[in-house]
Amino acid sequence: MYDVIIIGSGAAGLSAALSAKEKNSKTLVISKTQPTHSQTVQAQGGINAVLYEDKDSIEQHVADTYNASKEISSKDNINFMCSNAKDTINWLDEIGVPFNRDKENKISQRKFGGTKKIRTCYSSDYTGLKILHTLFDQCIKNKIEFLNEHVLLDLIVEDKICKGVVILDILSGEIKEIYSKSIILATGGYAGIYQNFTTNSYSNTADGIAIALRAGAKLSNMEFVQFHPTALVNSNILISESARGEGGYLVDKDGNRFIDELKARDEVARAIYTRITNKESVYLDLRHLGLEKINDLMPQERRLALEFSNVKLEEELLPINPAAHYTMGGIKTNINGQTNIKNLYASGECAQANIHGANRLGGNSLLEIVTLGKHIGSYASENIDNEISVQDINSNKLELIKEEIENIFEYKNEINLYKCKDEVGQILFDKAGLFKDKNSLNEALKQINEIKNSLDEIGVVDKQKEYNKNLLEFLEFRNILDIALVVIESALNREESRGSHYRVDYPNIDVSYLKNSKAVLEENKVSCSFEDVV
Ligand SMILES: Cc1cc2nc3c(=O)[nH]c(=O)nc-3n(C[C@H](O)[C@H](O)[C@H](O)COP(=O)(O)OP(=O)(O)OC[C@H]3O[C@@H](n4cnc5c(N)ncnc54)[C@H](O)[C@@H]3O)c2cc1C
Repeated sequence: MYDVIIIGSGAAGLSAALSAKEKNSKTLVISKTQPTHSQTVQAQGGINAVLYEDKDSIEQHVADTYNASKEISSKDNINFMCSNAKDTINWLDEIGVPFNRDKENKISQRKFGGTKKIRTCYSSDYTGLKILHTLFDQCIKNKIEFLNEHVLLDLIVEDKICKGVVILDILSGEIKEIYSKSIILATGGYAGIYQNFTTNSYSNTADGIAIALRAGAKLSNMEFVQFHPTALVNSNILISESARGEGGYLVDKDGNRFIDELKARDEVARAIYTRITNKESVYLDLRHLGLEKINDLMPQERRLALEFSNVKLEEELLPINPAAHYTMGGIKTNINGQTNIKNLYASGECAQANIHGANRLGGNSLLEIVTLGKHIGSYASENIDNEISVQDINSNKLELIKEEIENIFEYKNEINLYKCKDEVGQILFDKAGLFKDKNSLNEALKQINEIKNSLDEIGVVDKQKEYNKNLLEFLEFRNILDIALVVIESALNREESRGSHYRVDYPNIDVSYLKNSKAVLEENKVSCSFEDVV
């Protein structure tokens, strides 16, 4: 039996693993991808921290984060993250993250939207990749155990206590159970459910959140989906906010600017999308920065623009559109990562720790996942439940899941899974996207439920045991559908507009909704309500 099992090897999972190991916990990281393929590697722009207090202050960082959240976050939790930010950067620096530095060898910072201060540390435009690779190196050095290409299928929960996991070994097709005294879910966010309209990777399918929901966990603020203003037209590959932070403009076809580029992401994204729905194109203009500066500060953005849009940033306008990017909602936790299920923790983008509220500031996610990841790994280790022993576990989960998978192999295969996945992305983007109202949300609900009801006609084509990607994608699709329904129900319930959640039929903020939304499963149906922000 392990002390701590961590599901997910993004920066949240690896930071938690390092501190759990430091506390001498028997630790295992399970991940459906190789660690270096986790979503974190795509984070380009940077990580926030007040490093130089003559120019900025922790109070200002707290205030900016709280303002962006539109007041549905906990100042205490934000304060915890912001006060620890400098230590987080210093720790990352010490273990080898190659932050850009100025001529005095001080860590450089750039400006991100939603704040007047310059507080985003960066490693050119490969910040997430450098952080993740450095954390992974440290994990190897510290001999942390990994099970890669193993996918979490279910949690073993008895009497509201989490005692282990059921996983599928993707390579062999074997289904196994592993027991642990605590389990930390660090499985990432759910913007990936907006298939074809997202900056997220294909493996980002909301698994951990859906599995936690089915196991009895409380989800929160699931209606808050952040759309990033600048993704490449057609591919939806992200062009980081650093492009605007370094002075890039947003322009129409005649080269006219139409919005303050450094306003909060939700406002900028809606302004762009309004033009796009009016059949106008919108562009990112970096020409005035010149080749040298672009190459120095944004080499990746330049390469992506060239490879995926055939545009030379120093010479041409880059066509962009908004895309689903980050999700503020997730498994409800306190600052220690604890959920409403004993010994089950959540960390990173899959968690709703009352920090980002209705809108996240760029650069605050990397900060959250490393700072809280470390803290939660430590907390879980220091609070190990030694009462739990293998002899006490009477779970029949393994048999049930094996039976379930056998049943899936018997499903008919009359409807194409991949077309359905595209359809879900389109429904979500059109009807539960940047703009929504009661009618569009009800239509989306009906359509997604219809798709869910036809799962046994979708089935899987590939019936082999080993490396069955088709089965994996089917299982992921069930999670996508479950979470899509929660997002829509939560959006229907919040009859106001706040931050990233914009209801055309309720275009104003309403003080009576100064609350967190809550979603649980009751008799297999999503039940939504509101609770005070604590
Ligand atoms: C293109 C892009 C650019 C970004 N840029 C920035 C930025 O500049 N600054 C910033 O602060 N934020 C940025 N973000 C946001 C930030 O990168 C993410 O919020 C953050 O990396 C999430 O980290 P995580 O550790 O929570 O999850 P992830 O890095 O998403 O990792 C999730 C892990 O869980 C595993 N997993 C998932 N499901 C299962 C399962 N069923 N079984 C086993 N394992 C599973 C995955 O394999 C993966 O290892 C960006 C996001 C994107 C998409």
